[in-house]
This record gives sequence, C-alpha cells and structure tokens, in this order.
Amino acid sequence: MSDETVRFGVLCSMYQAILRDRTSAKKRKRFRTFLDKVYTSRDYFSAVRLILPSLDRERGTYGLKESTLAVCLVDALGIARDSEDALRLVNWRKGGSRAGANAGNFALVASEVLQRRQGLASGEMTIKELNDLLDQLASKESRAEKASVLSELIKRTNALEMKWIIMIILKDLKLGISERSIFHEFHPDAEDFFNVTCDLKLVCEKLNDRSQRHKRQDITVGKPVRPQLAMRVSDAATALKKLHGKQVVIECKFDGDRIQIHKNGKEIHYFSRNFLDHLEYGHAMSNIMVENIFADRCILDGEMLVWDTSRNRFAEFGSNQEIAKAAKEGLESDRQVVYVAFDILYVGDSSVIHQSLTERHELLRKFVKPLKGRLEILVPDGLNAQRSPGEPCWSTVAYNVEDVEKFFKETIENRDEGVVLKDLGSKWEPGDRSGKWLKLKPDYIHAESDLDVLIIGGYFGSGRHGGEVAQFLMGLAERSAPDMYPKRFISFCRVGTGLSDDELDALVTKLKPFFRKNEHPKKAPCFYEVTNNSKERPDVWIDSPDKSIILSITSDIRTIKSEVFAAPYSLRFPRIQRVRYDKPWHECLDIQSFVDLVNSSNGN
Ligand code: ATP
Repeated sequence: MSDETVRFGVLCSMYQAILRDRTSAKKRKRFRTFLDKVYTSRDYFSAVRLILPSLDRERGTYGLKESTLAVCLVDALGIARDSEDALRLVNWRKGGSRAGANAGNFALVASEVLQRRQGLASGEMTIKELNDLLDQLASKESRAEKASVLSELIKRTNALEMKWIIMIILKDLKLGISERSIFHEFHPDAEDFFNVTCDLKLVCEKLNDRSQRHKRQDITVGKPVRPQLAMRVSDAATALKKLHGKQVVIECKFDGDRIQIHKNGKEIHYFSRNFLDHLEYGHAMSNIMVENIFADRCILDGEMLVWDTSRNRFAEFGSNQEIAKAAKEGLESDRQVVYVAFDILYVGDSSVIHQSLTERHELLRKFVKPLKGRLEILVPDGLNAQRSPGEPCWSTVAYNVEDVEKFFKETIENRDEGVVLKDLGSKWEPGDRSGKWLKLKPDYIHAESDLDVLIIGGYFGSGRHGGEVAQFLMGLAERSAPDMYPKRFISFCRVGTGLSDDELDALVTKLKPFFRKNEHPKKAPCFYEVTNNSKERPDVWIDSPDKSIILSITSDIRTIKSEVFAAPYSLRFPRIQRVRYDKPWHECLDIQSFVDLVNSSNGN
C-alpha cells in the first residue's frame, strides 16, 4: 500500500489513536504498526511529512498563520465575514461571540465550524492527493487562490480530516509524542541523519530499511545543520558546577536571529533555525562573505543583528529582514545588518565540529576578517580588540563564580538579555541541548509586583550612550505622616535597562532642565539620603524631587541586602518596565512598604 492507495482518513485514525494513547510506548507502537501493516510501500516521505510537518521543507511555506487562515477559510466556506461562524474563526483565541471550550485552539474552533457544513463520511482522498493539494496551497500567492484550494479540500474531506489538515498547515499536530520518538521508531539513525542534513525527504529515502544501519554522516556545505542550543541555569554557581573542571568562556547572549552561513565559492546561504534560507541577507552580506572569509568553503554559526551606523554600535533588536530588504531596494538608512560569528563548523574541505571550541576560535581568527559593523567574530578578546574605550566586553574566559557574576552583571546593565557559557574543550554537537552550552538570564518578577520609584539622580552612559545620562539612581520615599507629601527619598538602586533608545531620549530630554551636576560628591541635596559609597554616586542630581519622574521597575526575584545604597535592600538586575508620566512624584513607593514587600516575598 502506498500514498496512492492509502487514504488520508487512515492516517487520521492513527492521529486520533495516538492522541488517545496515554504512554509514549503505545504512541510509538501505533506509528510502527502504521508503517509495517498499513503503509507498506518504501516511499515513506509522503506519509512522514504529514506526521512531522514542521520539518518538511519541500513545499516551502503556506504563508498561512491562524489569522490569515481564518479569513481564507471564511472565503472558502463562502460565509459572510460578519456571520457568527466567521467571527468565531477570526476571534479563535476568544472562541468567537460565545466563548467555547475550544477557544485558543484554532484547529478545534475551525472543526466546530466545519462540522456544521461538512458531512461525516470520509472524503476518500488519498495521501498523494492531499500532498498534491497542499503543494498547490503553498504555491498560490493570493488569498483568493489559497481560499479556492481550501475550498477543494473542504469538498473532499470531512470535518475530522479537515481539522488534521489545518494542523498540518499550521505545522503542529499536538500529538503528545516527540519528534525524537517518531524518528527513533522510524529508524535508529534517523535523528542523527536529520540533524546534519535538515532534509526529511533524504532521511526517508536513505533510511527506508530499518534493519540497515547508516554510517554516521558529517555535516556538508549547503545542507543546514540543526543548531546546538543552550540549557538554562539559574545562577553562576550552578553553571560553573555543571562545567566543573572545564575551561569556560562566557559570552554575551545577543538578541538577534540565529543564522548559519554556508559559503561555497560565491554561493552563500543564510539558514535560520528552522532551516529556511534567508536569501534577503545576500544583498548586504554576500560580497563581504566572499571577500572576508579566507576559505572557499565554510560554515559559520552566529547571530544576525542590526548595526546603528550613526551611533556606531549594535542597535536594539529590530526586524533584520526588513532592514535587509530596505538595503536591497537601495533605501537610505542608518541601520544595517551585521553578522556576529560565534562559531565555525566547516572550513576548506572538512567539518571542524569535532575540534575543541578553542581550536574553532583559532580558525575563526584565521579565516574570518572582521569588518566593523558588518561582520564580527565572537572570540575571547575578538570584538574587544576593536573596542572603543568604555565599550562593553562581549566574550571572556571565566575562572570562577565572581568572573561569571561580574560579566553577567555588566551584560545585563548593558541591556543585553543574558549570557552563554561554553566549555572551551567541547565539540559542536548538532541539535544538542544537553548542557554543553548554558544560558543565564535574570528571572524577572511579575508585573503586579513592579515597584514605582522616583528618579533622584543620573549617570552618564559609556560606549552605547557616551556623554548622555543613560542610567538612573532611584529613591524610595520616607513618609513622615500618611497624608503628607514625602520630604526625603532614600537611595535604593541604579537602573539603566528596559527602555528603547527613543523612550530613553524622551525621558532624559524632559529631565535635563533639572539636572544639577554632582560637584561635591559628599554633598547630596538635602532631600536625598545617600551613602558615601563611590559606586552609588551619580553624575547629576535631580534638583528637587517634585520635578522628577517615577519609573516602574521590575527586577530579578531575589532582592539583595544593600551595601551600596542607603535603603536596607536593593534589587538584582533592575529593569525599567515603563515611565510613569501619569503618576505624580509624591506617589513614590515608600521604604516601609518596600521592606514589607521584601519580607513577604522571603516568606517572613
Ligand atoms: P531564548 O528564548 O532564551 O532566546 P532560544 O530557545 O532561542 O532561547 P537557546 O538555546 O536557549 O535558544 O539559546 C541559544 C540561542 O541564543 C541561539 O539560538 C542564538 O540565537 C542565541 N545566541 C545569542 N548569542 C549567542 C552566543 N554567544 N552563543 C550561542 N548562542 C547565542
């Protein structure tokens, strides 16, 4: 029995049964029975692509996320856009006008709507016919054309089949069985082979005999490799415990798009984490890749980010693809894409993933020539070499917990999202998330416990914000009586992260007229209680608290005993949630309420 004879309805019965099965073993057995007894042809790809739709790259993307799919289905069904069913589809998250149990699950909401319009009898469509129609759906450009293919699918199926087709289009079957289990059941070498080729069709074709083992294959230029990923750890000490005895490098966790660059002469591919080739980066990048990588064939692993040419530094995370497209269209901009290569996987004629990270860093230094604002390499002291004074360090070797904490703190203060720790002796493992790379990010508390506190001073930024106030000294109010405005504010923490550049500019512009230079470090304005600790001392004070502005701050869940500030506790990794222009200065959180909050969150 092959895809030309097995009906899609049979596959649906398998989906339904897997969904009902409680254990992974039962689910796996169900899949095995399907392969052994039902789908007996060796042309497995036709069926497997309908079981692992998120890994299928043969027909490109459908361009249909829930919201567009809803509109196309409304048209395919020929129902009025303002009808109750159309609204149910469009407002699938809420379940339409009547909130149903299926709200939030698009396929279930759609199947409710379809049930009223489709019969119960199976449409007899074969797996091949479904694949042909899905190919058509992906190839159509306009919504009207897509709606017409959907209408054909609706005509030839029942509501249950349509529900599964919708899940295939959305690329998530929610079967409760991992992709790894499906691979293992299919062939013992399938997962490894997929990890180094990201090619489901090839896996199905080459491994169509379960009794024949496949020699472990290395990576090749032109075939995306499943990226190595990081495991989350809670703190620096745990991270170092996990990497005990290893030499460790700690790197900034850049917030961009993970991109694998494959260079083969002048042919350059930009593969994203889900193996799509982002050719739109070519216009801005390919020449640089040809000229600045001294190897004809090479694979780089790294992050695509945005560079701000007017400020000469990384910009906040934005839409890389849009910036790349704008560059292609020749639009003037002070933003451009920049690639930070943090690893090299292939060079010349061979894969180098089996070499140690230290050796791969050497290869990066040898074969990749950085170009400021375009192509950078992330090796200990790599980006740093071109650093202007005050610019943050992006990568360093860490010897103890203090090194990690210091780097982590600096990174968070620089508004980056966290750090990645890597064993310098480790090889690069396709698809691995077992803990060879560790990521450390702050645990931010929930919005309901945001603290509304007053700006009492400012610090000049360095590098990214040289010459302008970029961080603030925050104060808690000291209340003399419940109905009185507070007269004193107690220094409590320093915060710089959380606002966009525009938000920060607007805030600093508003406060600037009230900045008073801190010329006598030991003399703070009388309404502020501060310590003599030099780490606390701001560059400017706010002239008077009634001119100041409240910020909502969130922080890591752990508060810390304050050694630097006047208040008894401070915050780990404070972050500005928003500027409270709407809240008058005197409604600042007071010290007693803050201490109560700390005690209650510590369980006292
Ligand atoms: P998150 O949601 O925390 O970003 P994630 O699921 O995207 O996590 P993780 O495995 O947790 O992925 O983290 C690895 C990701 O971090 C990579 O895919 C990459 O995009 C990004 N990254 C940024 N800087 C680095 C770096 N220096 N080394 C490795 N990965 C980095």
